[in-house]
Amino acid sequence: MKDDLASRITDAIINVLPKGKSFYPLHEPTFAGNEIKYTSDCIETGWVSSAGKYVEIFEEKLAEFTGTKRAIAVSNGTAALHVCLLLANVSPGDEVLCPALTFVATANAIAYCFATPNFVDSGYTTLGVDPLKLKEYLGRISIIKGDECFNKNTGKRIKALVVMHTFGHSVDLGPIIEICKAYKITLIEDAAESLGTKYKGVHTGNSGLLSSLSFNGNKTITTGGGGAIITNDEALGKLAKHITTTAKLAHKWEFYHDMVGYNYRMPNLNAALGVAQMEILPSLLAKKKTVAKRYQQAFSGFEGAEFFAQPEFSDSNYWLNLILLSKGNSGERDNILEATNAAGIMTRPAWLLMQKLPMYKDCPHDDLSVAEDLEARLINIPSSPNLAD
Ligand SMILES: *Cc1c(COP(=O)(O)O)cnc(C)c1O
Repeated sequence: MKDDLASRITDAIINVLPKGKSFYPLHEPTFAGNEIKYTSDCIETGWVSSAGKYVEIFEEKLAEFTGTKRAIAVSNGTAALHVCLLLANVSPGDEVLCPALTFVATANAIAYCFATPNFVDSGYTTLGVDPLKLKEYLGRISIIKGDECFNKNTGKRIKALVVMHTFGHSVDLGPIIEICKAYKITLIEDAAESLGTKYKGVHTGNSGLLSSLSFNGNKTITTGGGGAIITNDEALGKLAKHITTTAKLAHKWEFYHDMVGYNYRMPNLNAALGVAQMEILPSLLAKKKTVAKRYQQAFSGFEGAEFFAQPEFSDSNYWLNLILLSKGNSGERDNILEATNAAGIMTRPAWLLMQKLPMYKDCPHDDLSVAEDLEARLINIPSSPNLAD
């Protein structure tokens, strides 16, 4: 008899999910606190747009929760990343290292700066940038001149590295920070997926010169759409606020803008939602941990696939849970996606690797065999906090 991996996986997931629903999305928002109260307040008072008290309150709560000196709320996570790179002085013609296994926003933000992504490989313990392989790659391709790192093959300056904490699991920041120091490369963290995730007890986003968060509808908390820049550099934080709010100098009536600014503001209405979400964030994270634990149990000793558990140095938010098919079973991936989605269980493969997209196909990259292997075997499974109820 044929060992039907697709139906065994479907059953294993169903056993974890609460009964009685016909559809289980990958990640739906939870509104369990003051969401209606605070957004109604915006509408009743008329403060729905670019001014109002909730933006500041949201920013304070984000800085406090992440343990960073400053948080700046913006229109979305991609805009946050764009500003992180601009303020790190990523300039036209530069190269910026980033993982091939990431959401397209990471690479797009680099392209917005007229810089070129240079894709690096992932590691099996984190799914994110592998420090050993990164060090080996830089040793091979780079040369340091003065305070700057250059790619010997392309002649371009390698200005920054963007790491991404994949599905809420922290990369191994310690060695990555050391490599960035040694090679004079600025570290930026794309922490869009890792709100609530700590690396060795410190919230992710504290090690980059600047880091970005996202509050899109499918993220751990949502503001409808939104993002934030977090940083421990007060001066850069101040500049980030200025440049994302059209670079206008405060004045009673004058429109004086002292640089090219961006309208990347988060509206007060969205920030009101964010404040309510921050109030329930600890309970959301606890529920997400419960769901992850149940999946881990369901897949312990399972033949043909394993649940991906947090690396030892990461206290992960388990934003999106995932299973990895055993080597040799990658051919079954699409059958499993077919079977689970047909059963009302929303599952998704990993993103297509960045160098496979038309606009990034000619970008420089390291050997990407681990990212390729992960892409072939990875399946995200339902992860909403309410699945714990
Ligand atoms: C969600 C996400 C972003 C930002 O997305 P927005 O929709 O612009 O808020 C950036 N990078 C990664 C890895 C993401 O998952």
